[in-house]
Amino acid sequence: MKRTDYISWDEYFMGVSLLAAQRSKDPNTQVGACIVSQDNKILSVGYNGMPSGCDDDDMPWEREGEMLDTKYAFVCHAELNAILNRGETSLKGSKLYVSLFPCNECAKAIIQCGISEVIYCENKYAGTDGVKASMKMFEMAGVKMTQYIPSGRKITIEV
Ligand SMILES: [Zn+2]
Repeated sequence: MKRTDYISWDEYFMGVSLLAAQRSKDPNTQVGACIVSQDNKILSVGYNGMPSGCDDDDMPWEREGEMLDTKYAFVCHAELNAILNRGETSLKGSKLYVSLFPCNECAKAIIQCGISEVIYCENKYAGTDGVKASMKMFEMAGVKMTQYIPSGRKITIEV
């Protein structure tokens, strides 16, 4: 008899996103993203971080202050990193699992590369203009938005 307590596809891909988020150096927000084909193959993974070659130790991680003294001028979001990390693979019709609902800048990139569904965990910035803009664009472009319902399963990985 086969195992019956194996994890679901949704748990697997959201789990990969959450594991990738653990790579983030951001002291306040760790986000991970995992892009998956329609037939459930992982195409790319990303997390929020400074651009390649920009030393994490020399970059600001502050949230307040002059623009150039904050992370906002520099950090590359998880969704964008996942999109850019895909190599030569087409993302047309793919699904994006992400731990936080995408901002409007990522929403533009998600739409432009043909991702057709966004499965998100948290939406803690719902109601902000950024998220409103994302939702407006996703609706117009026909990108399906699906809230991930946590299964409550605890997955422990010892490394
Ligand atoms: Zn973003």
